[in-house]
Amino acid sequence: MLDWLIIGGGLHGAHAALKLTAQAGVAPDRLRILDPQPALLARWTQCTKNVEMAFLRSPLVHHIGLGAFDLFEFSRTAKGRPLAAFAAPYDRPGYALFQAHCRELLAQYRLPELHIRSRATGLRQLGERGWRVETPEGGLEARRVLLALGLSDRPAWPDWAQRLKAEGGPVRHVFDADFHTATLRAWRNAVVFGGGITAAQLALALGVRQPGSVTLLTPHPARIHQFDSDPGWLGPKNMRAFEAETSPVARRRMIQEARHRGSIPPDVHRDLRRAVRYGEVKLLEARVAAGSLANDGIYLDLDNGDRVRTDCLLLATGFEGKRPGGAWLDAAVAEWALPTAPCGYPVVSKALRWARGLYVMGPLAELELGPTARNIAGARKAADRLVQVVERCPAKTQVVV
Ligand SMILES: Cc1cc2nc3c(=O)[nH]c(=O)nc-3n(C[C@H](O)[C@H](O)[C@H](O)COP(=O)(O)OP(=O)(O)OC[C@H]3O[C@@H](n4cnc5c(N)ncnc54)[C@H](O)[C@@H]3O)c2cc1C
Repeated sequence: MLDWLIIGGGLHGAHAALKLTAQAGVAPDRLRILDPQPALLARWTQCTKNVEMAFLRSPLVHHIGLGAFDLFEFSRTAKGRPLAAFAAPYDRPGYALFQAHCRELLAQYRLPELHIRSRATGLRQLGERGWRVETPEGGLEARRVLLALGLSDRPAWPDWAQRLKAEGGPVRHVFDADFHTATLRAWRNAVVFGGGITAAQLALALGVRQPGSVTLLTPHPARIHQFDSDPGWLGPKNMRAFEAETSPVARRRMIQEARHRGSIPPDVHRDLRRAVRYGEVKLLEARVAAGSLANDGIYLDLDNGDRVRTDCLLLATGFEGKRPGGAWLDAAVAEWALPTAPCGYPVVSKALRWARGLYVMGPLAELELGPTARNIAGARKAADRLVQVVERCPAKTQVVV
């Protein structure tokens, strides 16, 4: 039986594995990361490559290493120096530097050796001993299971776009599991639909490739915010009131109000305005009333009365807000009476414990960690709490909490 089984090998799961093994003293041969992707961080890398982002949105101290300034230290090493790039404000790291740092950490701490390439399909409690996680290849038993499921396998599709897809129209979501911007074939009139940073970055990238042939169709005026929630949510300034609130309904409301959905940082907005001025990208602000498929592509009827034709419709509409996991986790919630709020998300302890030996991070920890739970900062907060779980209750005590 393992000490820890982490389900999900994205930035969150990988950071937790690193902290638990390198800081909390969990023996690497007692911990595994379960993820169906061919490599750790694969979905993060695919989603970010697809939008061709140059800099992270988050600051220098948000990364998956151990100490807050690890990424900065890495930028001064022989491997990091050639890639060192930071954007003002907040010294946001260049994407290439961030990725190289991730690769370096995975290699240094040999995390790929802990990766089991499979998918969790069921969860069964083994009395006080721990949990059994079912996979198509058989069961894995662990004293503690950490759910680090991101949202990346649930791109959000508006109804009208789903209908076009079902009819076989040329429409993709930029976060589809099998979508790669780099392999996109030439188009005549591409339309990127979405109002936030992803849509802007994607339109800019395509506009460089085929200037003048890309329309960014945004359903609302630009919502300009540096981050996707106020930095006050990273510390006590905003979190004090959140933690004092005992109602999960009120906490969900606070999260919804705090998150700047569909927002765009000032520098990306500036780039977009410049691309529009130079005719690389066309900008259209309207909602889609209906979409129809014809021989020469997709026609979008807009709520301002206009009609747009496209042979390449790309959605940048983010991820579904539903609780991640899907059917197997829904079944576990019902079978093991795991407490949930009316929004469906876990109600967990301060230690992120959902049940004896069962822990969460990422979006699943949102009602405890607040609006930054799904960001890199949230991974760091969560992992710090998990380290404390181990420190309070090391493996040799054999007590599972
Ligand atoms: C384009 C983009 C840019 C972003 N930029 C930033 C940024 O600059 N700063 C920031 O703080 N945040 C950013 N984010 C938000 C967030 O930090 C990232 O989405 C991050 O990758 C989330 O990590 P994760 O590990 O929670 O999720 P994921 O990367 O989705 O990883 C979850 C993993 O769980 C696995 N999984 C799911 N179900 C199962 C199962 N049943 N069994 C086993 N494994 C399973 C999946 O295969 C996946 O590999 C960005 C997000 C996107 C999409």
